[in-house]
Amino acid sequence: MYATRISSLPPYLFAEIDERKNEAKKKGVDIIDLGVGDPDLPTPQHVVDAICHAAKDPLNHRYPSYEGMRSFREAVAAWYKQRKQVSLDAEDEVLTLIGSKEGIAHSAFAFLDPGDIALVPDPAYPVYKNATILANSIPHSVPLTEENEFKPDLESIDSEVARKAKIMFLNYPNNPTAATVEKSFFKEVVDFALDHDIIVLHDNPYSELTFDGYEAPSFMAVDAAKEVGIEFNSLSKTYNMTGWRIGFAVGNSEILRGLRLVKTNVDSGAFQAVQVAGITALTGSQECVKSNVEVYRERRDILIDGLRSAGLEVKKPKATFYLWAKVPKVRKISSSIQFSMFLLERAGVVVTPGIGFGEEGEGFVRFSLCVSAERIKEACERIKGLDL
Ligand SMILES: *Cc1c(COP(=O)(O)O)cnc(C)c1O
Repeated sequence: MYATRISSLPPYLFAEIDERKNEAKKKGVDIIDLGVGDPDLPTPQHVVDAICHAAKDPLNHRYPSYEGMRSFREAVAAWYKQRKQVSLDAEDEVLTLIGSKEGIAHSAFAFLDPGDIALVPDPAYPVYKNATILANSIPHSVPLTEENEFKPDLESIDSEVARKAKIMFLNYPNNPTAATVEKSFFKEVVDFALDHDIIVLHDNPYSELTFDGYEAPSFMAVDAAKEVGIEFNSLSKTYNMTGWRIGFAVGNSEILRGLRLVKTNVDSGAFQAVQVAGITALTGSQECVKSNVEVYRERRDILIDGLRSAGLEVKKPKATFYLWAKVPKVRKISSSIQFSMFLLERAGVVVTPGIGFGEEGEGFVRFSLCVSAERIKEACERIKGLDL
């Protein structure tokens, strides 16, 4: 019944874990879910007030423009200037998206012909690989290894593959590894892309969730980046707006035009009231972001201490709301799925097995920081009790 592209998608690996989680919940087990990467904190009140107001205006009830409201794109340009020292022309270097996931997935259709190669990091946010498959194209896995600090080793990419590759996905600060990079790494990426004529699609939704003085650079802040790529960003994680579906892409105008062409034929833009509220988020006080970051930092420190004293090996990340911990070599546990199952059954703690983000994710599990400090403490106590 289904198109081949559907059966070509990788199998869903979390089915068994989901099933056991739901069974446990039904039985009344008190589950602590550190699996999902979805902020538990509310959207700031001034942003909620803004959409309530905008929703009442009949002008916002009609079809929005495909590229997004000029005022929203101007707010994005001003925010990028202020936050990332990047100058953008709001007219053709900013595109409004219905969440960045939408733009990432549609990019595959804008740039890949059947059989084309996309360079996809592994482990990674699954959309890069799956959108490539849905476009009948070939995801070529680029390993992110611990030895290389979870950055791709561009030199080691097969020269024939690099020559053929049409696009490359990247994501720093990284989900799931929480790895961060400096601007110098993006310079290497730009040179690589220029050498091999590759379009770079950088995904930066965690750009504001950074700790300990670290600032996440924009890919677009590097010289010549605008010649080779675009960057996706989103209000989802920065302003706790995952449910609102509002994001954007910035950078090379020709690349953005390709993405816009696909979108013009698939969707009809983001609800204007959401864009108006987005403007409020981007241009209003950024104290809400600071207090968010402080909440995640506190949770991070509690979880790091707890996991380490339970005997787990985990690095302290400078960004994102994830911890990437090694699967311990105890009790005959040999895979990330087994360890996740063990934590679920013995401690009622849900984590995401690394294998779900790609083969190179095996040997790790991802803990997210989207539950309260109290619950994280409870999770730590339970894990310590497991005697790992
Ligand atoms: C959360 C997330 C997104 C999706 O963000 P939306 O704007 O809500 O679609 C994209 N990329 C990565 C790496 C993410 O973790």
